[in-house]
Amino acid sequence: MDFIGHGNTVIQERKMNSSEARQLVEKTKQIPISSRVARECIDLAYGFFTPLIGFMNSATLNSVCQEMKLIDGTLWPIPILMDIDKSTIDKNNLKVGEKVILSYEGVPLALMDIEEIYQYEKQKIAQAVLGTTEKKHPGVMMIDQWMDYFIAGPIQLMNEPHFQPPFDRFWFTPLQLHKIFKEKNWKRIVAHQTRNVPHTGHEWLMKGAWFSANGDLSVEKLKTGILVSCIIGPKRIGDYIDEAILLTQQELNDSAYFNPDIHMVSFVLWDMRYAGPKEAILHAIIRSNLGCTHHMFGRDHAGVGSYYDPYDAHRIFDEIPEGSLSIKAIRLLEWFYCPICQEVTYSGLCGHTKERQNFSGTMIRSIIQDKVQPTRLLMRPEVFQTMMQSAEQYGFGSPFCNEKYLKERRPIFILSPVSK
Ligand SMILES: [Zn+2]
Repeated sequence: MDFIGHGNTVIQERKMNSSEARQLVEKTKQIPISSRVARECIDLAYGFFTPLIGFMNSATLNSVCQEMKLIDGTLWPIPILMDIDKSTIDKNNLKVGEKVILSYEGVPLALMDIEEIYQYEKQKIAQAVLGTTEKKHPGVMMIDQWMDYFIAGPIQLMNEPHFQPPFDRFWFTPLQLHKIFKEKNWKRIVAHQTRNVPHTGHEWLMKGAWFSANGDLSVEKLKTGILVSCIIGPKRIGDYIDEAILLTQQELNDSAYFNPDIHMVSFVLWDMRYAGPKEAILHAIIRSNLGCTHHMFGRDHAGVGSYYDPYDAHRIFDEIPEGSLSIKAIRLLEWFYCPICQEVTYSGLCGHTKERQNFSGTMIRSIIQDKVQPTRLLMRPEVFQTMMQSAEQYGFGSPFCNEKYLKERRPIFILSPVSK
């Protein structure tokens, strides 16, 4: 049976078998790609970006920047582009109409049918997508570092990535997830995007979203699941290490803070643009491709600094045309501890506005940095233990990225050589 993704498009994988790939290697030019482009090739090939099937051409880029739509009118907020430098184009004499192999770390990953090679003012992309061209915005910095040309065209995966432990048990393609949700008989699926080790505030965000998504189902139909969808992409010093994020999210399930029947952990390869509201829409699109029916948006989703109002990413869902998304945004306020209520409560509910104690990610980090276990009220003890175990196993002793981790961490996935 067909699974439908964003824009009512059937989700299809774009990959070839290994003998086809071997034949192509013999006669096809190869060009190197960056790790971001490699991640996005994988996303394109498995349908995470449905209905996209390749990197965008200039007409699509224009339409996305100016109207937040693809050429056919489908809602799409963020350009998916492959940058390339002039010397690679010249050296390989790349031409529109030919095929080229995109190779990552020397190994063929995907095949592209070159549709267009073009230039586009990068400042214009930044302004349209991020609302700023200030270099201290990390999304602007990313666009700024792109090479001067773009190369567009549909891609096909030649070589499936092999995800390494502990990533392998959390890697699910959109088609696999659709199938799993069906088997689990989940009627509704709430996506929770995260790049964090969960503290109790995060746990309550998920619980609140679950209540909200499940609230109008009768007990016979009650089957709402939570998909924790971690973002795995480039890391910066001080971020939680990827392994700790995945394993601690799973720990909430293993320790039954979430009934294992209604909760699972997965990840998406994605390089954050920090585009605030526009990125919120993209995240919703990706999760609708995964089969989710609801997506949680907390305070300042995909924001950075003070570029966006903390609730811009909530409001944008009122501004897009009705019916342009097949997933519902669940917009959440803050959960915090109230000493008068003596419980974790919600800013829309509790009236003790002066007494509330917010969960501060920064405060929790500084406690962890000193290897002190936060109180039960802040972080589940099992989550803390799992975090410290993954610090030992994967993080060179720290649950936060340090220089050693960034340089020497085990690869998330490897590619087998494609021999001739
Ligand atoms: Zn209270």
